[in-house]
Amino acid sequence: MANKINKKEKIEKSKKKEKIIVSACLLGEKCRYDGLVIKNSEINKLAEKFELIPVCPEVLGGLPVPRPPAEIESGDGHTVLEGNSRILDNLGNDVTVNFIKGAQTTLRIIQGHKVQRVILKSKSPSCGLNNIIRNGHKIKGSGVTAALLLQNRLSLEEFE
Ligand code: SF4
Repeated sequence: MANKINKKEKIEKSKKKEKIIVSACLLGEKCRYDGLVIKNSEINKLAEKFELIPVCPEVLGGLPVPRPPAEIESGDGHTVLEGNSRILDNLGNDVTVNFIKGAQTTLRIIQGHKVQRVILKSKSPSCGLNNIIRNGHKIKGSGVTAALLLQNRLSLEEFE
């Protein structure tokens, strides 16, 4: 009986936790282009207080794991969303459609959960908030998903 009550209490408690959408790779999911698993202990600690919902825009956009690394050809995610730039992987494949689809699906998931807070992985051509990588160098700009979420006035943070 006591066990049942504890279980019920736990369920009630988890229901009340504020939800945060998190780039899935920051939570240790194997979704990165290189198939590596990374962990961010700071983010994992947040699970004590918040309900963390993992989302990987590139996988949602239909890309496999592992996959060739990709970069935004010019400008940043905003430029891609305007239709003025492409995303090419290092084999020369145009994966723009996948990145845009992943960004739109991520936005729908966020809206479905009515989430206000989003934590993104830095420097990614999808998730990077303040910087992306071009030709091996860090440059200012947002990834495609981050750009779409910014355009929808969501509160974004980024972690390494
Ligand atoms: S940075 Fe974003 S798109 Fe890239 S693996 Fe992590 S969650 Fe997926």
